[in-house]
Amino acid sequence: MEFNLSDHQRMYVETVRRFVKTEILPRILELEGKHAFPGEIIRKAWETGILNLSIPGAIKGYEMDAVSAALIIEELAYGDSGIATSAMCNDLANSVIAQHGSGPQQEAFLRPFVDNPLLASFCLTEPGAGSDNSAMTTFMSCREDGTYLLNGAKCFITNASYAAQFTVFCKVGKPTGNFMACVIVPVPAPSPEELAFGFEQGRKIAMSTGGNIVVGKGEDKLGQRLSNAAAVTFEDVVIAPEQIIGDRRLGFRYVIDVLDYARPMVAAIGVGLARRALDVTLNYTRERKQFGQRICDLPVARDTLTTMWKKVELAKLALMKSACALDEKTEDHGLYASLAKNTAAEAALFCANEGLHLHGGYRFMKEYEIYEGTREVEDMIIGREIC
Ligand SMILES: Cc1cc2nc3c(=O)[nH]c(=O)nc-3n(C[C@H](O)[C@H](O)[C@H](O)COP(=O)(O)OP(=O)(O)OC[C@H]3O[C@@H](n4cnc5c(N)ncnc54)[C@H](O)[C@@H]3O)c2cc1C
Repeated sequence: MEFNLSDHQRMYVETVRRFVKTEILPRILELEGKHAFPGEIIRKAWETGILNLSIPGAIKGYEMDAVSAALIIEELAYGDSGIATSAMCNDLANSVIAQHGSGPQQEAFLRPFVDNPLLASFCLTEPGAGSDNSAMTTFMSCREDGTYLLNGAKCFITNASYAAQFTVFCKVGKPTGNFMACVIVPVPAPSPEELAFGFEQGRKIAMSTGGNIVVGKGEDKLGQRLSNAAAVTFEDVVIAPEQIIGDRRLGFRYVIDVLDYARPMVAAIGVGLARRALDVTLNYTRERKQFGQRICDLPVARDTLTTMWKKVELAKLALMKSACALDEKTEDHGLYASLAKNTAAEAALFCANEGLHLHGGYRFMKEYEIYEGTREVEDMIIGREIC
């Protein structure tokens, strides 16, 4: 078993680390403060070649393995998890075209992403159909001329305000039936100005082929504030047969294939976030002294830092195992994708919460729990009392 990265993979990691250091970290607080969309950073990421990782070699000129893709997403997320989410969403939306689209469909729907810095959206979730996407009501009805009409409402759709293409899952046949189709809906690409400031208040797209797409106001999220998410409504949007991916009844299978690819990438976002939380907390607790010692040397704080480190390392192992399983197309790759996602999510939450806590009141004045003594001080008092 090989635990070392290849020269190529090491080069990807170094490239994204440089990108994060020069393009993301210096601007993050300003963008976060304004809740601004990082359109310029996304454009530069595209120029650097770290977007659209799932586009096949036949279109892009080179193929990228899942381990390399996960490493790139992890490093981007170390810079900012919102930017990584926005970037990764292109692969969420486009991997179904890469996996199940015909040659002409790959040319028509993937080539534009190679030629220009565009964003894509993946439209699965609906207000009444979240974890249970079989309950979706978005429906595509067949017309006499062989085209279809797409109607329905999706919610929480990443990149929706800025997307140049929507990958949409919808019922077909009977609205209450079990057949689900996957259709690709390209729309006019936003201009660079619109990418920078554009559509957070909403966007209405009149389709030249018929129908409208209405994108709601950008959601005001608690976290990942540099990614955009909004509701999207499809109103009588005309769909040509060439826009349907694969078999128009097999959308459920395609969703599973997409999620098997996307889950390790979401895990990579969690690992990047957890690593960053650990690093900034280590830096802070090495510098700040209380009770005459560095905070990182105080026993209860050191236990927390050790647990943070262990969770990061285990999440990285689970991530790499799942990415290798995906590359090798093992039968159990879906199982390891779920393990990686859960392990990374747990590491990210733990490291963010505990890291925030170890920063005390100085950087996070809203953290009321820190008043009247931090949790560790309460634990010291309790420990002294009961021992
Ligand atoms: C920032 C963000 C970006 C997103 N981007 C996209 C996107 O680009 N495209 C897209 O299609 N969707 C997107 N989503 C939607 C996301 O996929 C859904 O939120 C998710 O699938 C859960 O659906 P729900 O929110 O309706 O929760 P629900 O399905 O209503 O679940 C709520 C809670 O109920 C519990 N629960 C649900 N099912 C079970 C079960 N079987 N057993 C036990 N407990 C259960 C869980 O605790 C769950 O958290 C995004 C969401 C967020 C927050």
